[in-house]
Amino acid sequence: MRQWAAMLSVLPTQCDLREVGPRDGLQNEAPVPVAERVRLIDALAASGVRRIEAASFVHPSAIPAMAGAEEVLTSIDRRPGVSYTALVPNRKGAERALAAGADELEAFVSASTTHNLKNIKRTPTETLEEIAGIVELAHAAGRPVDAGVATCFGCPYEGDIEPTVVAGYAQRLLDLGADTIFFGDTTGMGSPRRVGLLLDAVEGAGIGLELVGLHFHDTRGTGLANAYAALQRGVSRFDASIGGLGGCPYAPGASGNIATEDLVHMVEDLGVATGISLGSLIDAAHLAEEIVGRRLPGQVMRAGPRSLLVSVDPAVPG
Ligand code: ZN
Repeated sequence: MRQWAAMLSVLPTQCDLREVGPRDGLQNEAPVPVAERVRLIDALAASGVRRIEAASFVHPSAIPAMAGAEEVLTSIDRRPGVSYTALVPNRKGAERALAAGADELEAFVSASTTHNLKNIKRTPTETLEEIAGIVELAHAAGRPVDAGVATCFGCPYEGDIEPTVVAGYAQRLLDLGADTIFFGDTTGMGSPRRVGLLLDAVEGAGIGLELVGLHFHDTRGTGLANAYAALQRGVSRFDASIGGLGGCPYAPGASGNIATEDLVHMVEDLGVATGISLGSLIDAAHLAEEIVGRRLPGQVMRAGPRSLLVSVDPAVPG
């Protein structure tokens, strides 16, 4: 008991969750009308989520599901205290996102050169140059940039990526002026052990873990275990997707962001506050399911929270 109390004491007291379903999730689905995307974003904001990845300012010919990004950002019912973020691939995208009122920009480079070339059609060095320009534009407009490193825990083309290489990219992004950084397990190759090794390398590079966010996929069933491993190190920023919506269209076989409601259910039980209403989040997960017209992999949305008791009905044989 005393040991458990000691373990809990190392966890952060609160967690900053970024909901990525409306972008990372929906970009892998058949295009959903803007009005439905806006409905989902508004439902998520109403549940208490304070950061929502609302749009991607890629060219619509590259990702048709993300067309209408401006319309999404200008149609949402903006809640005070909620940051509506946008993913931008280049300076042009950053200009569009800032003009549409994005509160924060996200940009990323892949730690795997092959993945970067396939995904963004640029070398990592070219991508870093583009991110420098994105940071400049965002800061001129007074908005922060959360810069990410993708394929942090391995790449289906290149295999394992050395944690020191990933940490090196993070350092370069911070040197370029990024306000915070996030590490993406784009293809779901992370494990608690590899989370620990990456965070060792990040700390070894002198980067404070308060700047670090983590983006896990549950492709191989380790998503929540990875988040727990990171929580034990004091990391408090996580991405998750409502209902477990999404994956990565450029990584074969990669699917399933960790479900926001599953993560909230776990961390709240650990005493880590999220400020999110789990009941409203589960409603939003069912809305997401209705919008995409297929069953989503989230589990708490099916089973309900563990505090949900079922009445005993003697008429039903056991
Ligand atoms: Zn993802």
